[in-house]
Amino acid sequence: MQVLVDGSGLHPAGPDRDAASPADPVLLLRAAVDALARLDPVGLGDAAVADLTIATRHEIDRLEGCFARLARTAHRRGVGSQSGAPSTAAWLARAAGMRTGDARAAVEAGEACELLERTGGAWRNGEITSAAARTLTGARVEGHDPALAACEPDLLRLARGGDLPGLRRAAARFRNLARADGTAPRVPDGLHLSRTYGGRTVLSGDLGDLAAETVVTAVHAYTDPPADGDRRPGSQRRAEALVRICETALEHAPSGRGNRSQVTVVVDWATLTGDASGRADGQFTGPLHPHDVRRLLCDSTISRVVTGPDGLPVDTGRARRNPPPRLRRALVARDQGCRFPGCDRPPGWCDAHHVHHWADGGSTDLRNLILLCAHHHRVVHQPGWTTRFDGDRIHIRGPDGTRPP
Ligand SMILES: [Zn+2]
Ligand SMILES: [Zn+2]
Repeated sequence: MQVLVDGSGLHPAGPDRDAASPADPVLLLRAAVDALARLDPVGLGDAAVADLTIATRHEIDRLEGCFARLARTAHRRGVGSQSGAPSTAAWLARAAGMRTGDARAAVEAGEACELLERTGGAWRNGEITSAAARTLTGARVEGHDPALAACEPDLLRLARGGDLPGLRRAAARFRNLARADGTAPRVPDGLHLSRTYGGRTVLSGDLGDLAAETVVTAVHAYTDPPADGDRRPGSQRRAEALVRICETALEHAPSGRGNRSQVTVVVDWATLTGDASGRADGQFTGPLHPHDVRRLLCDSTISRVVTGPDGLPVDTGRARRNPPPRLRRALVARDQGCRFPGCDRPPGWCDAHHVHHWADGGSTDLRNLILLCAHHHRVVHQPGWTTRFDGDRIHIRGPDGTRPP
């Protein structure tokens, strides 16, 4: 059986196709992948698993090189528009289920490999990885192709040697020199905020050097250093840093911008007091978990709109039973940082936690407030956790009734 590749995938070809169909390699490839899929790594030793993992990745890289060339060829011939798609990337997204961005990147890499033929060849031959090929072709700057082609041997030497950091630096240097005339990058900065089906939000950004330097510096500056017993992964600490940066930015946002610089939560009273599960919505994100809402409304720069049983607002305003500055200073002087056992985060990283939540009648004064860092504030608002404060000592109990270590 032969295979033809068309816009809707792979289909068996009729008997009139000649034997040397260019799609034959796909058939061979499919047989090889079938064999790989049948191979259960559970029965293999560690060394064999390691070899197989690396070797499989190696072939995937080579295939990506081949795919880039095919995608570019399809693009040049307008194969996608023949099937009615507005672009090659849109065609690949529909017909092959690719992410549009990945499809566009493949076409661009394929195009760059037409200019940098040796790079394309080395990619498909497995002499350089996909990461190296993409870094090298990513050096391209509009109007400077001859200069890049002249630099190709040097860049390729770094790529072949597996020196990815060196290659990245060299590519950046090339782009900077090429743009010394002040031309703007071809790819403008972008930031995407997308909601997932699972109710999470995914941030992805694509930044130039200077913008990235600023953002990365800020995230590092606000990231907790790893501490003994802190099992949060780096990604989680960076995410918390980003939220802290945004909270700080909102606190200092210039006035006169109205509610746009205030996070707003709409919550009905019964949900807030835990009597029922009703509306608890963020302005942009939709339904929030009631535990998160109680924590947010405990102490932060959140605006609240609390609604009664009829759905009409009964209470609006700053949810922060915001310790007034004087109270906050007294709280900082007393607690000097997070009061969770064993935590030493300084006051600047801390929220004021209402031991007895204000929605349940708790007061906003020193007898009912303790400082907790954002992480531990989240912890004590988890179901089953209790905090008690006798004016001197704080008693925190986990869900199983035990004290945290
Ligand atoms: Zn709290
Ligand atoms: Zn803490």
